[in-house]
Amino acid sequence: MKKRIAILGSTGSIGTQALDVIAQHPDKYEVETLTAHRNVQLLARQAVRFQPNAVVIADSAGYGELKDLLAGQPIKVFAGSEAVNEVVQLPGVDVVISSLVGIAGLAPTIRAVEAKKQVALANKETLVAAGDLIRQLVKKNGAAITPVDSEHSAIFQCLAGECSPIEKIYLTASGGPFLHASADELERATREQALRHPQWSMGAKVTIDSASMMNKGFEVIEARWLFDLKPEQIEVLVHPQSVVHSMVQFADGSVKAQLGTPDMRIPIAYALSYPERVPLNVNRLSFAETPNLTFQKPDTEKFRCLALAYEALKLGGNAACAVNAANEVAVDAFLHDKIGFRDIAEMVEEGLQKNDFIAQPTLEDYLETDRRIRAVTLPRRKKRRTA
Ligand code: MG
Repeated sequence: MKKRIAILGSTGSIGTQALDVIAQHPDKYEVETLTAHRNVQLLARQAVRFQPNAVVIADSAGYGELKDLLAGQPIKVFAGSEAVNEVVQLPGVDVVISSLVGIAGLAPTIRAVEAKKQVALANKETLVAAGDLIRQLVKKNGAAITPVDSEHSAIFQCLAGECSPIEKIYLTASGGPFLHASADELERATREQALRHPQWSMGAKVTIDSASMMNKGFEVIEARWLFDLKPEQIEVLVHPQSVVHSMVQFADGSVKAQLGTPDMRIPIAYALSYPERVPLNVNRLSFAETPNLTFQKPDTEKFRCLALAYEALKLGGNAACAVNAANEVAVDAFLHDKIGFRDIAEMVEEGLQKNDFIAQPTLEDYLETDRRIRAVTLPRRKKRRTA
């Protein structure tokens, strides 16, 4: 039986790579639904090629054009974010790849969990903002989450066949483009520099988050919920070669690591094929060509976003939701040249300080926290002049 797949965010970086994995295994997977935010042209081309049952354009302004481009195709065309929430629950869907960017991924992911679908989770904000709630819903509905992010996939792969508890995990971080930058260089960092990631090819938001190490902070929070860990069981290690994707240490002192080339199609494929593996046409790791694997502790004074993520995780409740909201506003402002790179951490800290703490938030509390923090963390600082 083929697995029928819904991809939320099919025109993004994860979405297009997921389609490449699916195209390599037409005997195992078929595309049931594709959704995109506003890239009508690419969504239409993907739909013509993969022949899903339905497509959704979340930004309704693109509906007419999409309908025209798919005229004569046996494909249902829908528009609007509520349609995204609905298509994940259709009986024809077995697996939902949740790869929307930002808090927009939260509601459809919850719907997929409630419909007891297997969720291949790439959207970080779902677990960062509302990890406690998601964990309860997954338990209640007997749904399954398979992680797509390379670090969590590595942990997940290291746990295959284990029945003993985790002592601790090591999440590896490339360190991003500013690993060796001075405080002064960080102050003057431009959007173009921040977008130049040394190892991974990803969307703009997550690339900026990697440059600030907020991304690693989010991954710490996600790991806490995915693997039921305490903050002190999660250690971040800077590993610029991006060969070891993460590690698990057990009570006997043994450490398991998952290694490979930095290619997102590997964790995407595992999230779809688990517990099996499928052959993949990707580059193989050459140990002889990467003889030096180095590891060091991150500099949390330089990368304050990472420290703020730990702080939010220790606070619990809606604190991480506030950090996420402030960060989304800050990254958007940085990408639009409104603030400097170091202002991102300042805005995140401000968001955390202005948060009204709620210890046991409901979904409505999370959404309200998100709305409120967005409203109070406006990018008022002037962009610093580059020298
Ligand atoms: Mg990652």
